[in-house]
Amino acid sequence: MILKELSEAFGVSSGESEVRGIIRDAISDYVTDVTVDALGNLLAVRKGTGESPLRVMVAAHMDEVGLMITGIDGNGSLRFSPVGGIDQRVLPGTRVVIGKDKVPGVIGIKPIHLAYKDGLKRAIKMENLRIDIGATGKEDAQKLVKIGDLAAFDVAYTELGPTVRGKAFDDRAGCAVLVELVRGDPFPFDLLAAFTVQEEVGLRGATVAANRFEPDAAFVLEGTICADMPQEPDEDRTTVTRLGHGPAITIMDRSMIANRSLVQHLIATAEANNIPYQFKAPAYGGTDGGAIHLSGAGVPTAVVAVPSRYIHTPYCILSLSDFENTVRLMRQALMTLTPDKLES
Ligand SMILES: [Zn+2]
Repeated sequence: MILKELSEAFGVSSGESEVRGIIRDAISDYVTDVTVDALGNLLAVRKGTGESPLRVMVAAHMDEVGLMITGIDGNGSLRFSPVGGIDQRVLPGTRVVIGKDKVPGVIGIKPIHLAYKDGLKRAIKMENLRIDIGATGKEDAQKLVKIGDLAAFDVAYTELGPTVRGKAFDDRAGCAVLVELVRGDPFPFDLLAAFTVQEEVGLRGATVAANRFEPDAAFVLEGTICADMPQEPDEDRTTVTRLGHGPAITIMDRSMIANRSLVQHLIATAEANNIPYQFKAPAYGGTDGGAIHLSGAGVPTAVVAVPSRYIHTPYCILSLSDFENTVRLMRQALMTLTPDKLES
């Protein structure tokens, strides 16, 4: 299962090369016109049977949220800033790896013995956290880490039966689905596969990839929010999606209102093939679709996602049946995509 390899790979925004290499190896026997553009997007064409002239782009982002080293203190501990959206409450006590050499570190926290009662009630601000690489001082740390190095969560992929746990399922789940699509039977048209960079910092890679491909239609594959667990009463208590209920189809998120004809096509495809599906609650999150649908003269775009608990934290959980059903839904939807399905 390529999801394991992709999940464990280092790929914080702007540092996606390890992920890109894994995907490139996985698809190279199936694609032509492989390019890596100036931003680092991996673009490739899965040749179709030639029945249809449509240009259909399918995108998944390679990058994950993480940290960037911004300073080294006198005692050798590392200051950092977030890259992408990270909740500071999840950071203390987590393991990270830093830079190309994957220097291991831990985000430190005082032991509970020293915490005052009120302190236990609030999160430690990110600017007061440090990464500890076990260095004895600043010079010692400088031998291993430079300012500007990226840090990723250090997490092994684990099978839990019908579900799996690992980091960066947003969006390595989408990348793995796209790899499966590319490695399957050819579609009636050329499939324009875009493995994009820097989605988590503003849909930057997708902006460039869509301009290169100039597609007639686009699908974005995601690992999306799933909050179907007990929640605090003072938080937004929507589940957004639910684990095990099938691929999540977006109607509207913060970046886009999905093309209604494509959404209808996805629903009809799921129902005709007995594939479970759900709608992602509007209007949470944004995706590469936000950039792609506004590219060129406008592109009909839809988003299909594998629900994943705890995205943007070190540990995500997804259901393998949701993953398989996302592959099935997308494969069928692409096989039967004709120009009339794009009319709005
Ligand atoms: Zn994502």
